[in-house]
Amino acid sequence: MTVPKIEVSILREGPVTLRVDQPCRDLDLDVNDFSFPGNLTGQIVFQLAQEEVIGRGEVRASTRTKCVRCLKEIEIEIRAPIELVYVHDPSLLESEIQVDAESHVYNYFNGEFIEPIHDIREMILIELPTNPLCVENCLGLCPVCGVNRNEKSCDCSTKQLDAKPEDASSSWKDQLRAIRPASEEDRKKS
Ligand SMILES: [Zn+2]
Ligand SMILES: [Zn+2]
Repeated sequence: MTVPKIEVSILREGPVTLRVDQPCRDLDLDVNDFSFPGNLTGQIVFQLAQEEVIGRGEVRASTRTKCVRCLKEIEIEIRAPIELVYVHDPSLLESEIQVDAESHVYNYFNGEFIEPIHDIREMILIELPTNPLCVENCLGLCPVCGVNRNEKSCDCSTKQLDAKPEDASSSWKDQLRAIRPASEEDRKKS
């Protein structure tokens, strides 16, 4: 994996454009129910502003996940605006991140280089939807019989909403289990 680096001394001559195009797996982006099979792409322009280095741009990546209502596999394009500010502080050995109310990330650099990849990763993760949907008005699964209401209608009465889960077909219960975040142990098994 090649880690994109920005050489701070070069920024004194003018802005530098970082073109990002690398497999998402290099960034370890997969979290919970989101997987990233493709590449992270985009560009970020870095420039010096007095003693700070500012990076602005946008990155994109496709993520695969499941609709929270009907459990259908979906692919979503994530676009993350990038707004990074690096403050020079030679006393800091480890980089520290603070996110302010406008979610600008302030980072510190202590050396000759800035390695923004982990900050870019954070900005992609911030953009992940909490309730991904296949379509905005997805009708979801019938809580009684489990049919996908986008594809079929059923005669179940909504009064049966409190029916015991045993009444439901096991296939959709398995699907529900599958979308829960897998435990560490489950991941090792798979
Ligand atoms: Zn859906
Ligand atoms: Zn039903």
